[in-house]
Amino acid sequence: MDQGPQKNIEFESHVTTMPQRLMIGSRNAKKVKEMKALIVPDWDRPEWADDWAIVGLDQFSSDLEPEETGETFAENARIKASEFAKALGEWVLADDSGLTVDALGGQPGVYSARYAGRHGDDSANNAKILEELAGVGPEHRGAAFVCQLAIADPSGAIRLEAAGQCRGRIIESLQGAQGFGYDPLFFIPEYHQTFGQLPAIVKHQLSHRCRAFEKLRRSIGKIVV
Ligand code: IMP
Repeated sequence: MDQGPQKNIEFESHVTTMPQRLMIGSRNAKKVKEMKALIVPDWDRPEWADDWAIVGLDQFSSDLEPEETGETFAENARIKASEFAKALGEWVLADDSGLTVDALGGQPGVYSARYAGRHGDDSANNAKILEELAGVGPEHRGAAFVCQLAIADPSGAIRLEAAGQCRGRIIESLQGAQGFGYDPLFFIPEYHQTFGQLPAIVKHQLSHRCRAFEKLRRSIGKIVV
């Protein structure tokens, strides 16, 4: 039976490539979760999102913990990204962050986590800052949270960097229990509240980390793998 003219069927060929893995170089599960959400936010999905698969360090069996021997946030972010990348043969994103207080010449800076001696002792760190700023007037209590990000390729070479800052003021006593670290001391004048008082959703719109990631997101698509 005549079936009429055959339709011209065009076959499109789709070349599908595996996404490149980008590992987050941190053992802190909360940080990994936050960084994953910041690098590919639901509300601003970047064009490159299908080209990179973001994975945590928990997928690798390694007990490597690079030493933060740098004198700047940028150096520490580079050290962490590069050492994890070389050891695991992966692309790695690492960060370093902390507080810099103008009246203390930029301290605690890279020592933010261990300013009072013991790593991660937030209440001792806050007490030390308050003690050092005793008698300093509000106009001289300016400070900034800083976040530095670095991406290394599997050879350890640094391929992308971004930084973000958020300015505020150190108040005279702890206010609020949200967040972590120096949040209860870090007052945002525009909001009349500290990061310890502001809802997390607001902090995450203003923070040094959010600002650094915004810049990083814009450039990841330009990396030539
Ligand atoms: P790390 O980069 O996660 O090691 O952070 C270093 C230290 O900087 C932390 O232990 C905190 O003391 C301080 N820090 C960094 N980011 C924040 C923040 O968003 N809020 C309060 N403290 C922070």
